[in-house]
Amino acid sequence: MSKIAIMGAMPEEIEPLLEKVENIKKTEYGKNSYYEATYRGKNIVIAYSKIGKVFASLTATILIEKFGCDRLLFSGVAGAINPDLNIGDLIIADALCQHDLDITAFGHPHGFVPEGEVCIATDKSLRDIAKKVAEKNGLILKEGIIATGDQFVASTDRKDFISSTFQADALEMEGASVAVVCDALNVPFFVLRAISDSANDEAGMDFDAFLESSAKISAEFILNMVESIEP
Ligand code: SAH
Repeated sequence: MSKIAIMGAMPEEIEPLLEKVENIKKTEYGKNSYYEATYRGKNIVIAYSKIGKVFASLTATILIEKFGCDRLLFSGVAGAINPDLNIGDLIIADALCQHDLDITAFGHPHGFVPEGEVCIATDKSLRDIAKKVAEKNGLILKEGIIATGDQFVASTDRKDFISSTFQADALEMEGASVAVVCDALNVPFFVLRAISDSANDEAGMDFDAFLESSAKISAEFILNMVESIEP
């Protein structure tokens, strides 16, 4: 039977999941905690990585290589770039890029390193499941590019750069590194984010105010998806 990884970056992003799943078994590994559990008859493994691309890569790799997960769903919060996205709105990534990866001094485009790609696409069948879940529950789900970098963006200048360079709709700090890992290891993956802030001057305050509520919106949607994934 398949094993589904559900990953967040921060405790707040996985706590709403841990409240709803059953038969939890906690394992400490690599300075982190992994929670094997079941939900509606499906085997899942839940973990939060800690913030940023390096920790997220480590956790995604462990979920796949040590725990044997064969699909990965990321749930969390993000800053909005697209003005149509308001706090609490949901966005799924069609593809993800690293906005802070920069060897442009050698003539390469932003986000590109040799033998890599600027954008990595998420799994279409998981996106289709998400769209069906949204439709069934009357929820609006935006689809677009999510840009990832090791910085909390709270500046319209940086946001405008990311928007014009990558045509990104939202930004966060983990998704694209998880994409690199899953793409390399051939594991279908999916990234969902609920908006916590607009990556502008007020981003820090908004983030603190809306982290918990937005993280919960994302986690609840992910659990609905797990129900619809074929075992
Ligand atoms: N308040 C936290 C730090 C949060 S960093 C602390 O003090 O520990 C922001 C987290 O939310 C990251 O995991 C990132 O993926 C996401 N995120 C939300 N809004 C963001 C923004 N404007 N810029 C970058 N990441 C953002």
